[in-house]
Amino acid sequence: MALHRIFRAVVTGPPGSGKGTVSSRITKTFGLKHISSGDILRANINARTELGLLMKSCIDQGQLIPDDVMSRLILSDLRATDQSSWLLDGFPRTVTQAEALDDTCSVDTVINLNVPFQTIKQRLTSRWTHLSSGRVYNIDFNPPKVPGLDDVTGEPLVQRDDDTPETVTHRLKAYETQTEPVLEYYSQTHTLHSNFDPVLFAQSSWFPA
Ligand code: ATP
Ligand code: MG
Repeated sequence: MALHRIFRAVVTGPPGSGKGTVSSRITKTFGLKHISSGDILRANINARTELGLLMKSCIDQGQLIPDDVMSRLILSDLRATDQSSWLLDGFPRTVTQAEALDDTCSVDTVINLNVPFQTIKQRLTSRWTHLSSGRVYNIDFNPPKVPGLDDVTGEPLVQRDDDTPETVTHRLKAYETQTEPVLEYYSQTHTLHSNFDPVLFAQSSWFPA
C-alpha cells in the first residue's frame, strides 16, 4: 500500500511502550522510511565512536542525550531524505527537540502510545533485542521462534544494558519530566492521536507482524 504524497509522522510514548514494534509495522505497510533515534544511537555505540561512548554512559544511566547532540544527529538524517516519507520513532523527546524538528520540516501526524507505567516496568525487564535491526521480543508474550535467536537472521538476542530495573526507573522519571510536555506542545500545534493502544494495534489485520 504505497502512499502517493509525502507523509511524515512521529511516534511517541513512554520507554518500552512499543514504539519500535508499532513503527516497524506501520512503515512496512505504507512503505515509509523508519527512523529510530534509539537504533541510531546504538549503531553509534556499536561502532565505538567517541560520541558513541559518551552516549552509552548517558543511556545506561537512564538519562536523555543532550538536545543539541540529538537534534544534530537526527535532523541531518532528515535533511538527507529530502523528498521521502518517513516515520520518526523516539524523537522528539523534549519540547526543544520538537521545536527544532518544526524548524526543519513539517510533521503531518503525531501518534502517542498509551501504556501504563506498571506494564512497562514488567515488560522492559523481560525484553530481548536484536541490536543491529532493532527487532524486539518478549519472553512472556512475543517470544522468538528459537529461544535466544532472532527470527530473521538467526543471530543471538541480547538484553539491553538500560533495561535493568534501576535504569528503567530513571527512564520513566525522565519521560515524565522531559517528554510528557511534548504531548502538550503537539496538542496545541499538530494533529495528535493521543490514545493509541498498542495492544489493539498488534491485533489489527491492517498491520501484519
Ligand atoms: P521503545 O518504546 O522502542 O522500547 P525506548 O524508550 O525503550 O523505546 P529508545 O527509544 O531506544 O528506547 O531509547 C533508548 C535511550 O536512548 C533513551 O533512554 C535515551 O537515553 C536515548 N534517546 C533515544 N532517543 C532520544 C532522544 N530523542 N533524545 C534524547 N535521548 C534519546
Ligand atoms: Mg525503540
